[in-house]
Amino acid sequence: MTGQDPTTAVQIDTTRPHPARMYDWYLGGKDNYPVDEEMGRQMLTLDPRVPVMARVNRAFMHRATRWLAQNGVRQFLDIGTGIPTEPNLHQVAQAIAPDARVVYCDNDPIVLAHAAALLRGTDEGTTEYLQADVRDPDAILEGARKVLDLTRPVALSLIALLHFVSDEDGGHDLVRRLLAELPSGSYLVITHATADFTPEESRAATEKLRAAGVTLALRSREEFTRFFDGLDLVEPGVQVPHHWHPELGDPVPGQDDGVIPGYGAVARKP
Ligand code: SAH
Repeated sequence: MTGQDPTTAVQIDTTRPHPARMYDWYLGGKDNYPVDEEMGRQMLTLDPRVPVMARVNRAFMHRATRWLAQNGVRQFLDIGTGIPTEPNLHQVAQAIAPDARVVYCDNDPIVLAHAAALLRGTDEGTTEYLQADVRDPDAILEGARKVLDLTRPVALSLIALLHFVSDEDGGHDLVRRLLAELPSGSYLVITHATADFTPEESRAATEKLRAAGVTLALRSREEFTRFFDGLDLVEPGVQVPHHWHPELGDPVPGQDDGVIPGYGAVARKP
């Protein structure tokens, strides 16, 4: 990306909503378009707590990254990064371990347009951004290898990503493929939306998004847990995101006012 202005090099489709921009709207960001706000508002009519869910998810990312850095992880591969929102993962990791190396990856051109904010890290550490699709794990691994030493542990984070990836598109197999290239001592970090707690609202949301061209692949607790097959779940295992190591961060206002329909977990590759 060096040597060019990324904003001139990308095409933003403003005719249909995109998950990265809707998520930015929920978080109160400015990198979204009327189509994203319109769909975001429709989601709020189904469940007004969606903005709280987005913040709870983001707060899980902060705590999980803190836990990993405190437990010696120095390399991070974050796929489905989203539009930069401070603090970003590298800022959380490098606050604890200034030498942490972070590779970000997203398939949405709007994230590429704002990637510069993801590349401002410590002098000792490194951050890099890859424009790639999780459905092409080989391209991601090839790019990641240029920055990360894949013979040493890596935390692979897929935060609020996999519910946009259907089983037909490879869901569990993609995660297995990525993990296969990472050594023992690596970690897998996932948060994922579910229909388990709010089946009616979830069905309606899935249909609305599908009509607008966005795939939503909600998974049950059992399907979520299968992503971690063969790995050792870190205590306290599979949880609704705000119940995972709450002591590592501040609570999000409103997080206990109802159901957060998602799961989060961290696991170590033996
Ligand atoms: N991980 C961030 C953002 C979550 S929003 C956070 O939790 O705060 C989901 C992100 O996944 C969006 O930025 C979207 O563009 C990205 N995404 C969706 N499908 C993808 C795919 N197939 N490949 C890579 N990224 C994808």
